[in-house]
Amino acid sequence: MNDCLDNLGVCGASCCKFLYFDFKFLTDNMIYYYQTHGCTVSHLPDRSWRVLVPSRCIQLTADNLCSLHGSAKKPFPCRDLDYKTKHKYQLTKGCLYGIEE
Ligand code: SF4
Ligand code: SF4
Repeated sequence: MNDCLDNLGVCGASCCKFLYFDFKFLTDNMIYYYQTHGCTVSHLPDRSWRVLVPSRCIQLTADNLCSLHGSAKKPFPCRDLDYKTKHKYQLTKGCLYGIEE
């Protein structure tokens, strides 16, 4: 089975370079505001909104490894992503979990 280490050359650890926030409703003005700051705004299936904010995690090393890997300090959203749980996650560019098994 593939894993993240084998895929870093493709994804560049894109999952560690953004934050996301969900909103029930956004006005056109707020969407424009986020977009002018480099964010990506998209609709979720339930018609709420998701805003992706470019933000590199301070725990990411220069060679795209997680300095908290294997530690209890690794944040929960960074754990447990696999083919069974991927529907709960925001998948990012080049992520191997965005590809069907
Ligand atoms: S804590 Fe580790 S896995 Fe989570 S975003 Fe930061 S570098 Fe990536
Ligand atoms: S979860 Fe996806 S984007 Fe993140 S390191 Fe693994 S393959 Fe790359």
